[in-house]
Amino acid sequence: MRRVTFSRNFTLSLSRTCRCYCKYCSFATHRAHLYAPDEVERMLDDAVRRGVKELLVLTGERPEVNPEVARRLGEYGHADFTSYVAWACERALDRGLLPHTNLGVLERRELERLREVTASQGLMLESIVPDLVVHRGSPTKHPRRRLRTIRLAGELRIPFTSGILVGIGEAPEDRVAGLEALAAVHAEYGHIQEVILQNYVPHPRYYGREPALIADEAQRGGEARGEDVTAPEWATPIDLDDMRTLVRECRRLMPDVGVQIPPNLSDWWLPLVEDGATDLGGLSANGDHISPEHPFPSVHRMRKQLAPRGFALTERLCVYPQYMTPEWLDQGVLDVVKRKYWSFIPRRGSGRREERPIRRDLVPGAIAKGRDGAWLSPDELTALFAETRPEAIEDMRQAADELRAELVGDEVTFVVNRNINVSNICVVGCAFCGFGQGRRSPDAYEHDREEFVRRVEEAIEAGATEICMQSGIHPDWTLADYEGWLRLAKETAPDVHLHAYSPMEVEHMCDTSALPPAAVFERLLEAGLGSTPGTAAEVLHDGVRERISPNKLPVKRWIEIIEAAHTAGVRSSSTVMFGHVEEPWELAEHMRVIRSLQERTGGFTEFVPLSFIPFHTLLGRTHGIEEISREENLKHTAAFRLALGRSVRNLQASWVKMGLDAATESLRWGVNDLGGTLMEESISRMAGSYHGTMLTPEQLVGAAQAAGRPAVQRDTLYRVLETY
Ligand code: SF4
Repeated sequence: MRRVTFSRNFTLSLSRTCRCYCKYCSFATHRAHLYAPDEVERMLDDAVRRGVKELLVLTGERPEVNPEVARRLGEYGHADFTSYVAWACERALDRGLLPHTNLGVLERRELERLREVTASQGLMLESIVPDLVVHRGSPTKHPRRRLRTIRLAGELRIPFTSGILVGIGEAPEDRVAGLEALAAVHAEYGHIQEVILQNYVPHPRYYGREPALIADEAQRGGEARGEDVTAPEWATPIDLDDMRTLVRECRRLMPDVGVQIPPNLSDWWLPLVEDGATDLGGLSANGDHISPEHPFPSVHRMRKQLAPRGFALTERLCVYPQYMTPEWLDQGVLDVVKRKYWSFIPRRGSGRREERPIRRDLVPGAIAKGRDGAWLSPDELTALFAETRPEAIEDMRQAADELRAELVGDEVTFVVNRNINVSNICVVGCAFCGFGQGRRSPDAYEHDREEFVRRVEEAIEAGATEICMQSGIHPDWTLADYEGWLRLAKETAPDVHLHAYSPMEVEHMCDTSALPPAAVFERLLEAGLGSTPGTAAEVLHDGVRERISPNKLPVKRWIEIIEAAHTAGVRSSSTVMFGHVEEPWELAEHMRVIRSLQERTGGFTEFVPLSFIPFHTLLGRTHGIEEISREENLKHTAAFRLALGRSVRNLQASWVKMGLDAATESLRWGVNDLGGTLMEESISRMAGSYHGTMLTPEQLVGAAQAAGRPAVQRDTLYRVLETY
């Protein structure tokens, strides 16, 4: 699965008056065009209403060369146009919108002024050819002048967007030379976050009509407007192969830079994404003001086209994640990112929402204490989760590996099981979930009894000793329905162990039956329950739960339900879902809850870290959450082992979440169990996991052996069934 990004923006063409005369442009005018402050304020309010995150300020170049524009600017109290743009950006920031400006060629002081109020800026290089016919009458289209502005932005540490126009009279080799010129500036300053490969499309003339209005109308209608226009003589024909070459060249020359393809200017955005393009640009809620007759395709439609090809279309901000630091952003702008869009800030060890001191000095002592099985304080655990120093992480790994060896030896266990998610219909709506569906969703399903029996029989034929059953929170199901599935499974396979029903499902049974958890477990036991999954834990911190699953049961209730299970003699697993919006100190709290509960009841069989799969979830699509890296995943694994001490003996790696290769590596990071064969896996798959839905026992044995360790097939309660 690969992410393809876009930004939800609103375009403000503050002034279309321009000093240049580019032949391809229908946007610019040489008459006076400038929105008044009250019009700007109204448009900004409109932008907020439309739910965008970015304000794209597009303008003609140096409009104040027009005396009427200069006069109006003076009337509004601004010495020059840059000052007026800065004012509009400030007003946008006040509303929580992040400005990205593109004003043409600028001087250092202008870039500097805009840096104070923008999250990013941009200037197309357009072409490396200095004397194109289309640029006659536009001296600032000379590549030297444009590269100077792009370089100045680098010196000023401004996150920057640039790109080339393709098909305006240049030769194929000129395009590559343009990209090479951008790559050279980027190599010097590292400030180019994305390169736009924009194919030229001919436009009609608008003769006094306002492109912004045409664009907005076309965007609302969702269809291309206007007549077909024949390409002028100076245009160079381009085809998909030309664009493919450029995408590849761009990736080769600037591997760390995004490659943007406008999806409204051709049908070839999809093959170009498959060829390596990473971004579909700013999809303006009010249309494309430069090519107003070409509305952007709907996000929903693009997502549907991308998903089956293994791409997840996700939102980004106008500033790319690596630039969300005080070094690259003015503090006032960074404050807006932190306040409104903190989940887009990449994880860098410490928290994103608030700065809390991380006590790195505590790490060596914490590792030693953890290795001895002692309780770690919240500060110590926080420091372990936030650790970034490679040598300290290696010490954590060794300590976790030693503790594992001491507690459970070298054997690597696994269970032959089958997941059955009877229905994905769910009314809870957790933001991290790609599985739950509304009843009317075309992706909703509900197995009937025959299908359920077929799946149980298939599992038994494949040698499964366990059926793991979890579903969405189905609004029509009552306790009797849940009992019914257990009974049906037992009628079909009397000896199979039923590992079923998350605490959220149990909570639903309590709600619909008006029984307390203890009584519900009694009924479930009678119906054939063997043990229960300690899922729905996510992060056991109500602050995190508020952010990612506000309708889910609170921490206190999760504890009550699990405690009731353990008291009733129903053992459970324990889990954590990490690698999303949680902060290190919130994970520390989660581990305190798990360990205290285990010390009270001893009912947990294992602890299963589940790293968050972002791709087809609301959190991933709209909150910028990326998949946790393999390195971070492994570091957390070691920290979990040290946090548990001797309380929970078994630490499981989820191959569905991290892949079998990383799960095999995790056997050196404190893990002793590889979980189950699963046979079918829907929950992670529907969130976009790409690690498959089943493994054979041979594959799990192979993974253990690849790590130089003996493999053991176990049952759900960790009794040995077969040693390999
Ligand atoms: S995580 Fe569970 S409760 Fe939440 S939406 Fe998904 S299926 Fe429903």
